[in-house]
Amino acid sequence: MNGKDIVSYNYEELIRELESLGEKAYRGRQIYAWLHEKGADSFEEMTNLPKKLRERLSGAYEIARMETVARQISKTDPTEKFLFELSDGNRIESVLMRYRYGNSVCVSSQAGCRMGCKFCASTIDGLERNLAPSEMLRQIYQIQKITGERVSNVVVMGTGEPLDNYDNFVKFVRMLSDEHGLHISQRNITASTCGIVPAMRRLAQEGLQITLALSLHGSTQEKRKRLMPVANRYELGEVMEACDYYFGKTGRRMTFEYSLVADVNDTDADAEELSGLLKNRNCHLNLIPVNPVKERGLKRPDSKKVYEFENKLEKNGINVTIRRERGSDIDGACGQLRRRYAVRKRETGDEIICND
Ligand code: SAH
Repeated sequence: MNGKDIVSYNYEELIRELESLGEKAYRGRQIYAWLHEKGADSFEEMTNLPKKLRERLSGAYEIARMETVARQISKTDPTEKFLFELSDGNRIESVLMRYRYGNSVCVSSQAGCRMGCKFCASTIDGLERNLAPSEMLRQIYQIQKITGERVSNVVVMGTGEPLDNYDNFVKFVRMLSDEHGLHISQRNITASTCGIVPAMRRLAQEGLQITLALSLHGSTQEKRKRLMPVANRYELGEVMEACDYYFGKTGRRMTFEYSLVADVNDTDADAEELSGLLKNRNCHLNLIPVNPVKERGLKRPDSKKVYEFENKLEKNGINVTIRRERGSDIDGACGQLRRRYAVRKRETGDEIICND
């Protein structure tokens, strides 16, 4: 970005910034409303500001670019996927999922990822960079503008590890739930982590009311290590303690995510071990049959096996659901659309906008 990243200023910071320019505080409030309620893409749109001020702002500040490169609308369910281009040419993806209770957007927290999970497409080319609060917020603003629909829920389950971009992520949550912006209830925000223990403990102390989801994917330290390199850093025991700490501090029930991979973590013994791990915990378990990523060579279990796995957990008293698949016809899994475009661009130099 050339100018200062104005969308990353929170309400108080923006008012102070305008005052430092010799403007009245209400100008800061007006600009905040343009940026965070109306999702303005330019200063020219801010018609209730004097032209002089708009020009001054254009010269020194920048509204984080979020340009739609591709929009894919699923034919099988009410889901759409967006590929956005940022100021520096990096691309990120976001997904809109419509439910009976409202619209949910899945946002990316980083361009790329350095966590290296074995089943995930987002991490294949490593981490490009962290996203600024503005770039997380504007994924949602842009989707609201494009579709004309209101977003009520947000999940930070797109590309990236939110707790590897801690400060920007926490600021994003505060701004997203701020009454001067979209004012989305923190209880309607879920963030998923691969289990960075110190950051989970720090998050527990932020005084936030968001749901934390832990990507478990294995019920023992050994199993987890096979799929998730982060497990080499933090033992399963410590991770579970951090989950208990989060629940204790916030009163928010944890969600656990478990991607089922054929012949890797889907046996009866796995179901028993997983039950043992979660038994006395006040939590919810989401089973996600793995979305096969070409480069990864992992298979999903057949649906009979998935139901058997679920049944076993249910019998053991675990609160479990199979995550209903969304948008698998539009590269629904983490990082797949972004990756397909990167590969295609490398191989053919093509740019494609698809609206099918
Ligand atoms: N970095 C965070 C959030 C990103 S991914 C995390 O690790 O939790 C959101 C969820 O999708 C995670 O549980 C992740 O493990 C899972 N996921 C990623 N790729 C997947 C795939 N191909 N199939 C099924 N689940 C996948």
